[in-house]
Amino acid sequence: MDRYSRQIRVAGIGTAGQQRLRDAAVLLVGCGALGTHAADALTRAGVGRLWLVDRDVVEWSNLQRQVLFTEADARAGLPKAVAAAARLREVNAAVEVAAHVADCSLAFLDALPAPPDLLLDGTDNFATRYLLNDWCARERRPWIYAGAVGSEAAAMVVPVGGPCLRCLWPEPPAQSDVGNCETAGILAPAIAAVSAFQVAEALKLLVGAEPTRGVFTCDVWRGSYQTLALARRPAAGCPTCSGTGYPALSAPPASAVTLCGRDAVQVDPPQRHPVDLDQLARRLGPVVQKLDRTPHLLRFEVDGCRFSVFPGGRALLFGVQDPLRARALYDRWIGLP
Ligand SMILES: [Zn+2]
Repeated sequence: MDRYSRQIRVAGIGTAGQQRLRDAAVLLVGCGALGTHAADALTRAGVGRLWLVDRDVVEWSNLQRQVLFTEADARAGLPKAVAAAARLREVNAAVEVAAHVADCSLAFLDALPAPPDLLLDGTDNFATRYLLNDWCARERRPWIYAGAVGSEAAAMVVPVGGPCLRCLWPEPPAQSDVGNCETAGILAPAIAAVSAFQVAEALKLLVGAEPTRGVFTCDVWRGSYQTLALARRPAAGCPTCSGTGYPALSAPPASAVTLCGRDAVQVDPPQRHPVDLDQLARRLGPVVQKLDRTPHLLRFEVDGCRFSVFPGGRALLFGVQDPLRARALYDRWIGLP
């Protein structure tokens, strides 16, 4: 316990709180910038079991802010969950770390040995966040939303009973509306600031303290930090909080299939949202290579992959064989929904 002596002295933790941390299981969804910050902090804090799920591999452009990874991990192209778990075991061997190289789908969540005590959002897409939102409501587990773009970030505790993410946004915002780190960039201190909120709230929830209510937002470039009030929507306004339905649990999962005999994967979201190819071309123009808008599709190259995107949202990704990797690239550059 000497290892945790400074933490135990903090009012609100104590030896009883430390024991509760040791008994807890936390699922971290996504091992990117947010996920690696949170995983490092929770491992050092002595959380008993930490489950990591991520479908992507370590790349050089991750090293600027994804704190658990090294140049060797990027050179080897290691799966993020695997590289993170190896590092975390060196940090604190007493923590049971499990690495899942997988898509965080409904099937994945339902196949967990038991629902974790808490789920942390380290994803980069709203499809997964709404899945977490509805799954946690059904399983009566809290989760903590977090996101960051540029110098800005936001986070919110979603306690059992809400208010939830649907109370904030009834429908998932389009990725193109909220921006993403590939096009707008990301500043490491924005991650650190929002991760501090997320991890502090995680520790509070795990020791049984009352979490902060409302939406935390910050802009580290402007130096502004605030928490905005958020109320539950009235009964008809949010199906999740009113218990009338969990829309994300009945949506069919997006599919990705490797094309036989070709170095390519097709990604075909079952819930199709028409993609405005001209708008996509304008957004991606400054950051991708060989952009080509034909009458029927949009082609471009990025991250070592050649994309052909069709108006219905279907895309062919050439130079990729792993469907999980293809889904990750699709979400990053084309966005869901
Ligand atoms: Zn709600």
